[in-house]
Amino acid sequence: MKIARITPMAYHGPLTDLVFVKVETDEPGLFGWGECSLPGKPSGVAGAVHDLARLLRGADPQRVEWCWQRMYRHGYWRGGPIQTSALSGVDMALWDIRGKLAGCSVAALLGGPVRDRIKAYANLGLSLDPGEFRERTHAALALGFQAVKIYPLPAVAQGEGLATIRQITACCEAVRDALGSAGDFAIDLHGRPGAALAIQIERAVRHTAPLWIEEPVPPESNAALERLAQQSATPIAVGERLFTRWAFREVLERGWAGVIQPDCANAGGISELQRIAALAEMYGVGFAPHNPNGPVQAAASLNLAAYAQNFSLLETRHTHSEWTARLCSYVPRVDSLGYLPLPQGPGLGLEIDEDFLRSQSQGEWVAESFRADGSIADW
Ligand SMILES: [Mg+2]
Repeated sequence: MKIARITPMAYHGPLTDLVFVKVETDEPGLFGWGECSLPGKPSGVAGAVHDLARLLRGADPQRVEWCWQRMYRHGYWRGGPIQTSALSGVDMALWDIRGKLAGCSVAALLGGPVRDRIKAYANLGLSLDPGEFRERTHAALALGFQAVKIYPLPAVAQGEGLATIRQITACCEAVRDALGSAGDFAIDLHGRPGAALAIQIERAVRHTAPLWIEEPVPPESNAALERLAQQSATPIAVGERLFTRWAFREVLERGWAGVIQPDCANAGGISELQRIAALAEMYGVGFAPHNPNGPVQAAASLNLAAYAQNFSLLETRHTHSEWTARLCSYVPRVDSLGYLPLPQGPGLGLEIDEDFLRSQSQGEWVAESFRADGSIADW
């Protein structure tokens, strides 16, 4: 059996850019789906998939690790978001093909699930309004979620005053109040603050007992991460902007994170997330895959969550379910206790409506984040 064709499909979903990959074999009707969504970079990722396709045309799709190494090492240029995302999508599709051939889920291929259900949390997005977060929390609880994540940070400069810190604290207190003591919430700071501001924020909100503070400092500043880690009473989560196992090594060895969040569509696919999760297990660090994009990535993340011993919580996109249901046969839906059912397969266990996908806009989403004085803020 050979890989006959690898096709990237980049579109604009209801919230962000989505890039899917279809890997077709020379066996009629046998193909796999992957996802390599990287918001803001759909053309670059689709182009990188075309480059990888040249390396894999004619290869045996069942030799997933051989294909991974061929894409990684014969690219010469290592890592980075665009190249590693393209590799991730192709890897995901190869696991889908293997599962379809074996007649079982990807989790079963990895070694079988170690749990009976997958705990999920709802990403409540960005707001600066405590009342808004209270409403969004109640809506998520009504769907069954027992855990949520908030992004309560304005477009900050590095030296912020008391008003910003009080605003963030008020958002955390509102969510804690809405959840009571039985539910959990995490805070995403999107890599915006520097170490000093992150330390101030952590001290101000720790009484609300967040599960973790995510990307508390810019991803390129390990010194800031180390400084915060030495003082934080709240677990730190990082990883959505780290690519391949090599980028996670120092984070784990230095003990900076309590939770890592590699993204299956960006950090090296199912093959690499399996390895990253195992590395984190050695250090007693939780595995909470970053999973904010499309349904193919969600299905792949679900399979990894079923398999990994140190899995903690799976990010879940709970809005725009109707759009997702038109695109894909798999739509993540939690039960009344906030759990997702185990993946059933075969493969990733999903079908994509390609006609619907092609009917979607290829739009040009552009990030916008400016401070009050007109200067550029981190997005
Ligand atoms: Mg995040």
